[in-house]
Amino acid sequence: MSSSSHEIKTRCPYCGKEFDTTIYTSVDPETDPDLRDRCISGDIFRQLCPHCHTEYMTQYPLIYKNIPDKFIIWLSASPMNGSTAESRDLAKKGYTLRRCAKLEEFAEKIRIFEDHMNDIAVELAKYDSFIEFLDNRSGNPEDVTSIEYQKVDNDVIKINIRMEDRGMSFLIPVSMLEEEIRAEADLYHVNNEEFPLVNSDWIISLFMKPAGQA
Ligand SMILES: [Zn+2]
Repeated sequence: MSSSSHEIKTRCPYCGKEFDTTIYTSVDPETDPDLRDRCISGDIFRQLCPHCHTEYMTQYPLIYKNIPDKFIIWLSASPMNGSTAESRDLAKKGYTLRRCAKLEEFAEKIRIFEDHMNDIAVELAKYDSFIEFLDNRSGNPEDVTSIEYQKVDNDVIKINIRMEDRGMSFLIPVSMLEEEIRAEADLYHVNNEEFPLVNSDWIISLFMKPAGQA
C-alpha cells in the first residue's frame, strides 16, 4: 500500500471563491513518513485560500494504515454500520481498527498506537485523571480546555489536563488500568471489526448507562 491523494475543487468558507487543493484519502506512514508528520501536526488538513489568504482546517474521510504497528485509523464523521469482509479479515490479521470522528482525536490516536498502548486504557486514564482533578478541587470543570494523552514511560501513563492559564499532569500506572479493564471486560468491550469509536464520549457513555440495564 502507499498513500493516495487527489485534486479537488473546494470552496473557501470565508470568501466563497473556489480553488484547487489536494486531499489525501489514505496515508501509509511507512512509505510516506512526511505525511505521518503532517497528520500529527494537522497540516494535512490545513487549507490556505489563494483569494482571501485565510487559513482554515477541513476534515474529509481518510484511512491511516500503519502496517508495522498493525493499526488502521479511519477518520470519518459517520460510522460504518456493521463490519465488512475486509474489516473482518483485517481484524483477524491482528489489526486494531478504530474510527475517529474529529480531527483532534486523530493525531492523539496515532501517537497512542505508535506507543503500542491500549487506547481503552488511555481513555480510562483520561477519565480517572478528570475524576481525580474534580475530587482534589484542582479547578473548575468548565475551565478545562482539553484532556490529553502525553506519553507512556516505565508503564506509567502521563495525562495532561489543560486549562486556559495552566496545565496539570496525572500519572497512572498501566497495570492498574489493565486490572480495571479485566475486571469489567464486558463493559469495556468494543467490536474491533466495526471500526469502533474509542474516545471521551465513548467512555463517558459507559458510565452514564441507566442503572438496571443489562
Ligand atoms: Zn477565501
